[in-house]
Amino acid sequence: MNIILLAPPAAGKGTQASLLTKKYGFKHISTGELLRKSLEANDAVSLEIKETMQAGKLVSDAIILQLIEKEFLVAEQGIILDGFPRNKTQALKYAELLTSLGQEIDYVFYLAVPKAVAMERIFGRRTCPSCGKIYNSRALENKEKCMDCNTALVKREDDTEETFDLRYETYIKETSPLIAFYQEQGLLYEIDASLSTEEVFASIEKVLSKESE
Ligand code: ADP
Repeated sequence: MNIILLAPPAAGKGTQASLLTKKYGFKHISTGELLRKSLEANDAVSLEIKETMQAGKLVSDAIILQLIEKEFLVAEQGIILDGFPRNKTQALKYAELLTSLGQEIDYVFYLAVPKAVAMERIFGRRTCPSCGKIYNSRALENKEKCMDCNTALVKREDDTEETFDLRYETYIKETSPLIAFYQEQGLLYEIDASLSTEEVFASIEKVLSKESE
C-alpha cells in the first residue's frame, strides 16, 4: 500500500500519518523529519539544509531522492509519504522508482485547509525531539513534556510567522500543482483538514474502507 499525504504546511500531515501508522502498521516516511535528523551531522551539507529550511524553500531534489530511496530499501509493508513529493520533478522520479519496484500509488490524500487555520495551528505546535510526536499546545495544558517518552517538547525552528509565509508561498508555487497532477491520474482524494484530528482521520478511513470493499 502506497499512500501520499499532500497538504500545505501545518495542515496535519504528520499527525494523520502517525495515526495511520499506529492503526495499520504502515511505515511513515516524513522527509521533513529525515531532514531535521540529518542536521545532527553538523557538517557543510547539513548547514546548507538548515538554511534552506529556515528560508522556507525546498531542499534540493538530489538530497531528497537519496533519502527516499534509502528508506524504501528497508520498507517492508505499506508506506505513507508525508512531505514528499513536493514538486513535479520529485513526483516523476517517485513514479519511476515505483515502476522499477513493480509497485504503484494507491491513494493521494489532499488535506485541504485554509491558510489562516494552518497558520493558527503552527504557532501552537510543539514536537518531541526524541520520538517525533506532535502536540498542540492548547491540548497540553502547560505540560511541556512528551506523554510517551517524557522528553521536553520543543517548538520547531521554522514555525515562525515569517518562515510560515515563505513555506506557504513555496507550497503554492511548487507543490500545489501536484493536486491536478494526481487528480488527472484518478488518485486524488480531497479531505477537509480544517476539522478536528479525529474527524480528519475518520474521513481518510472512510475512503480506505470503501475502496477495499
Ligand atoms: P511542513 O509540511 O509543516 O512545512 P515538513 O516537516 O514536511 O513541514 O517540512 C519542513 C521543511 O523541510 C520544508 O519547508 C522544506 O524546506 C523541507 N522539506 C521537507 N520535505 C521536502 C521535500 N520533499 N523536498 C524538498 N524539501 C523538503
